[in-house]
Amino acid sequence: MSVASPAARHDAIVIGAGIVGAACAHALAREGMRVLVLDARYPAGGSTAAGMGHLVVMDDSPGQLALTSLSTTLWRELAAELPANVEYEACGTIWVATDDEQLDAVQAKHRLYAGRGIASDVLDARALARLEPNLRSRLAGGLLVPGDGVLYQPRMTLWLLERARDAGAEVRSGCRVDRIAAHAVHCGDEILHADVIVNAAGADAPSLTPELPIVPRKGHLAITDRYPGFVRHQLVELGYLASAHTMTTESVAFNVQPRATQQVLVGSSRELVGWDASTNRRVLARMLARAAEFMPALASLAVIRTWTGFRPATPDKLPLIGAWPATPGLWIAAGHEGLGITTSLGTAQLLADLVVGRTPPLNTRAFDPTRVLAATEAH
Ligand SMILES: Cc1cc2nc3c(=O)[nH]c(=O)nc-3n(C[C@H](O)[C@H](O)[C@H](O)COP(=O)(O)OP(=O)(O)OC[C@H]3O[C@@H](n4cnc5c(N)ncnc54)[C@H](O)[C@@H]3O)c2cc1C
Repeated sequence: MSVASPAARHDAIVIGAGIVGAACAHALAREGMRVLVLDARYPAGGSTAAGMGHLVVMDDSPGQLALTSLSTTLWRELAAELPANVEYEACGTIWVATDDEQLDAVQAKHRLYAGRGIASDVLDARALARLEPNLRSRLAGGLLVPGDGVLYQPRMTLWLLERARDAGAEVRSGCRVDRIAAHAVHCGDEILHADVIVNAAGADAPSLTPELPIVPRKGHLAITDRYPGFVRHQLVELGYLASAHTMTTESVAFNVQPRATQQVLVGSSRELVGWDASTNRRVLARMLARAAEFMPALASLAVIRTWTGFRPATPDKLPLIGAWPATPGLWIAAGHEGLGITTSLGTAQLLADLVVGRTPPLNTRAFDPTRVLAATEAH
């Protein structure tokens, strides 16, 4: 028998203490709401622990461009407040072009970004080599996006939760939500009530809201020993977006990050293999070989750790942010695929605006979770 606890009334319950749930809890607490965060395990232990920490503008769709642009602006505004252990670095991204066709794509990206007020600089081959001497020769050039950055997202998540606590929020680890009901959640024998329930359970969100078409998309990362100055910007091959966009069973792309620790973080791979977290040595080898194609000296660096994680992927590569009317009081903030660290702050702002009835800074229709119902019916 479940027991409703009269002392357990909150304004909002956020399910999931990954970076998305933490950012939402922080934003709702700052609205003056009494917030309770519940996590089945512990904060930043899910996809958030496994990510790369790249804060990046991406333009796979107008919605993605709008949300990543808003979010990177919010990150830059927050940067001055962040403690050193969050390891925020305003290193920028360089999108690397291998040939003239890709240089045309660089020019198109530059024009698109300029039209949205996003700063970027087109680099010719010489400028690229000067900025990143460890890239291989005979590359065509690239696009530098100086407003992008990197950080250490587990520490960032804890910082958001600490700020939420400062604003009165409570965070409970080891508390698995079994079921969401109208304005309530069931955790074992306990029923907790709130006006607002936020499903921010990442790739696990469908276990609580089964209609959500979120699937785990596995990725590998590798980190090297310390090599000061080896890489200075986040470097991404121009083909990365195609690798992220197409839901093939397996893909790899060159994606390398300088860490504040002087280590080099190497990505990235994508696989659809359910929840199999084991290291796929063949995919890992393909990923490292791809990186060494762009940075030959990488092959001689010592990799000291590799790991896998799961991106919460949706069919249209956009997150689900907004109300879920079928369950009174339920809101969704999940399905951020490979951009959940970047878009956590934008997601939290949109969610808080919608919850309190304020007009969000961008049109949220593309993120409306109920679009998945229309897609299912059409199918
Ligand atoms: C290899 C890799 C590289 C990546 N690189 C980047 C990058 O460079 N930049 C970027 O922006 N993004 C990146 N991402 C994506 C990013 O990590 C995710 O989008 C983001 O972490 C999702 O956060 P989340 O809070 O939604 O989910 P999670 O971090 O998974 O958090 C969900 C939480 O919900 C809890 N939970 C689940 N079910 C329940 C339940 N029933 N009851 C209570 N709690 C529950 C879990 O324990 C977990 O703590 C990467 C991801 C991977 C795998």
